[in-house]
Amino acid sequence: MAEQHRALVTGASRGIGRVVALRLAREGYAIAGCHSTASEAARQTEADVRALGAPCYFAECDVSDPGAVEEFVRAAEERLGALDLLVNNAGITRDKPLVLSSYEDWNAVLGTNLTGTWSLCRAMAFRFMKNRSGAVVNMSSVAGVYGNASQTAYAASKAGIIGFSKSLAKEVAAYGVRVNVVAPGFIETDMTDALGEKLRAQALTQIPVRRFGRPEEVAELVAFLLSERASYITGQVFQVDGGITL
Ligand code: NAD
Repeated sequence: MAEQHRALVTGASRGIGRVVALRLAREGYAIAGCHSTASEAARQTEADVRALGAPCYFAECDVSDPGAVEEFVRAAEERLGALDLLVNNAGITRDKPLVLSSYEDWNAVLGTNLTGTWSLCRAMAFRFMKNRSGAVVNMSSVAGVYGNASQTAYAASKAGIIGFSKSLAKEVAAYGVRVNVVAPGFIETDMTDALGEKLRAQALTQIPVRRFGRPEEVAELVAFLLSERASYITGQVFQVDGGITL
């Protein structure tokens, strides 16, 4: 019988995280999903994962709070068994020019996007190393690679994720653990819905394939990177961006 993988996906209630959770459930993996607040979307995603026959545990967990993260990992492992895959997907934006931004904006964005990624990796890396097995995918953004006006905090958090992931990849490679980064461009989710028509139209003119990406197109790469099919790939950054950075 094939080994049962157990994946933890942050920000699993909607958008890219929801589709990643469903994609991994279809692979037959057990799913631990967390999200910021209880919502109909979260309940629906949990029901959809369960309907695919995957054992799962969904709960609220603020990833910017290391104590809450420890508790979520403990509760997930109690219900599902030892986790061996991690997708740090939870993320927020507070788009505004630097001169209009506040310390609170900076802390919120860095706290969720970068500290959240650190907290989950910190909570799980040791057991992955001990088990000599594990794979991590951290969600960055093309903004973290190239920068973007009105996204100084967001781009800093996403660039931080890249440096963090490359360093961690070097630390844990000898223990059979891989760490990679996915950097999406514009993907159809609530996050990009919030841009408004004018900005969306402007963005479309810069995307060579002339459309936003679908969450499924990101989830496909995440599933590949977590699988044995990517067994010799670590410390890399993969853009899924319709060519926007060409
Ligand atoms: P979304 O806003 O649709 O969903 C975000 C998810 O993160 C939700 O499940 C939410 O509950 C969760 N979340 C937010 N703050 C959290 C916290 N403090 N603790 C726990 N969970 C929290 O976002 P999305 O568009 O699906 O984006 C997912 C990831 O992909 C993010 O990291 C985002 O930065 C990145 N990304 C998205 C795009 C895009 O165009 N949508 C582009 C590049 C990168």
